[in-house]
Amino acid sequence: MLTCKEQVARSSDYLDGQLSFREKWMVRHHLMFCPNCRRFIRQMRLMQATLKALPEQPVEGIDDLAERLAEQRRKDNPL
Ligand SMILES: [Zn+2]
Repeated sequence: MLTCKEQVARSSDYLDGQLSFREKWMVRHHLMFCPNCRRFIRQMRLMQATLKALPEQPVEGIDDLAERLAEQRRKDNPL
């Protein structure tokens, strides 16, 4: 059985589907018995999904947008 450290080292390859059949099996086996690593994998998967959802290029005019939103908020809630 893998140690948690070995498991973590394989996590990103596991999520990318880069592991051999044998290693994949070892990871699954470890996950079956280790709630900590299950949680870790779940968070990693979530993070990967979030990263993929982000645009590749920095969004143009994001500063303008932030500025405009801030201004809008000032108008809506004058102090
Ligand atoms: Zn573990």
